[in-house]
Amino acid sequence: MSEEKKIPYKIYLEESEMPTAWYNLRADMTNKPAPLLNPGTGQPLTAEELSPIFCEELVQQELDDTTAFIEIPQDIRDFYKMFRPSPLVRAYCLEKKLGTPAKIYYKFEGNNTSGSHKLNSAIAQAYYAKKQGLKGVTTETGAGQWGTALSMACAYFDLDCKVYMVKVSYEQKPFRREVMRTYGASVTPSPSETTEVGRKILAEFPGTTGSLGCAISEAVEVATKSEGYRYVLGSVLNQVLLHQSVIGLETKAALDKYGIKPDMIIGCAGGGSNLGGLIAPFMGEKLRGEADYRIIAVEPASCPSFTRGTYAYDFCDTGMICPLAKMYTLGSSFIPSANHAGGLRFHGMSSTLSQLYHDGYMEATSVEQTSVFEAAEQFARTEGILPAPESSHAIRVAIDEALKCKETGEEKTIVFGLTGTGYFDMVAYEKYNNGEMSDYIPTDEEIAASIAKLPHVE
Ligand SMILES: *Cc1c(COP(=O)(O)O)cnc(C)c1O
Repeated sequence: MSEEKKIPYKIYLEESEMPTAWYNLRADMTNKPAPLLNPGTGQPLTAEELSPIFCEELVQQELDDTTAFIEIPQDIRDFYKMFRPSPLVRAYCLEKKLGTPAKIYYKFEGNNTSGSHKLNSAIAQAYYAKKQGLKGVTTETGAGQWGTALSMACAYFDLDCKVYMVKVSYEQKPFRREVMRTYGASVTPSPSETTEVGRKILAEFPGTTGSLGCAISEAVEVATKSEGYRYVLGSVLNQVLLHQSVIGLETKAALDKYGIKPDMIIGCAGGGSNLGGLIAPFMGEKLRGEADYRIIAVEPASCPSFTRGTYAYDFCDTGMICPLAKMYTLGSSFIPSANHAGGLRFHGMSSTLSQLYHDGYMEATSVEQTSVFEAAEQFARTEGILPAPESSHAIRVAIDEALKCKETGEEKTIVFGLTGTGYFDMVAYEKYNNGEMSDYIPTDEEIAASIAKLPHVE
């Protein structure tokens, strides 16, 4: 216990201890994630085919399964210094409240205006777009964190930024929209009448509240039809997991400073970028046989890609214009109920994490919305931070695991990713506080209906 006391509430790194290269987890995977396929030919996409959609250097990163460390350009490292390193916090107050012998740590990524980890990749993607001499980028945003992060990054590099925002979030979070506009982005609710695919989706599903899949289709269409624009994506892709590895590298460096070995690492999973980044160096050790950790992905019961999805090639978007990715998916036509964790409403999952899950290197679990907000409230009241609903999925499972330790008396070390803050999610908190929150769980029939529409590959 006395040794214990030496661990501060917050473990920071010195500037000189910050990562100078991202870690590419794929380099250590024996079974590489399946390649993106051209939906027309069914063949793996080449760099040439991807470059009309994505920035050149990001295409290289997307396709690179072998380089373990990729240097972080100095401009990006300088930008990171404004909000990184992020603190690794020992949740002493939560532990005490729970009466658990478990040691709980969380890596807090909410200390920037976007309120989430998304800025880690946004700045990298904007940097490469600028380097290529582009005029601007297009993207989708769900809850709004990615759009905010990208608008901040584009403002920094003086790039135009067009954001398609999932309609339910656009309406629920007008203030987030204004933050994006303050940074100079244009924001359109999706599905919209401004694109061909948007008009098609509106005709088929009138009154839809939208989904990430719809918004992606619209943003891709605009990027490919506008001179000097490319599309950027805030999650799912290998390149995004690569940039987010900065979270895990910092976490590992901070833990190593105090000789702490986690037993389990927990993160929420929407498209898998924060989790993929947080676990990267730990999973690397696991893949190389140097250490073992329990790694747990937490998803909403309303959008359970890992726990109830199928491992297959699918479209990343609803309009079926994007490349095919092999992943755990609910089907690209699956539109989840209007759950309040907007950032977790994607039908698929990172192909890297999907492969690792398929090979048994990690676990997944799903949790219901009301219990997620119970955990959020408990966390806010003990640790002081008002968490994002997405992050609260990880909090729920971290608390549950800590309570199991209370029963067994085991002093496990739990690390979880606290991806962001929930200040723009007060409509959700209001529903919870009023006792009006529902736990919609899709039926097997609903999932089977969208799975039946998976593209036929192989
Ligand atoms: C976007 C987002 C997520 C989910 O995205 P991943 O790519 O799965 O990490 C989680 N938490 C917050 C706060 C987000 O903004």
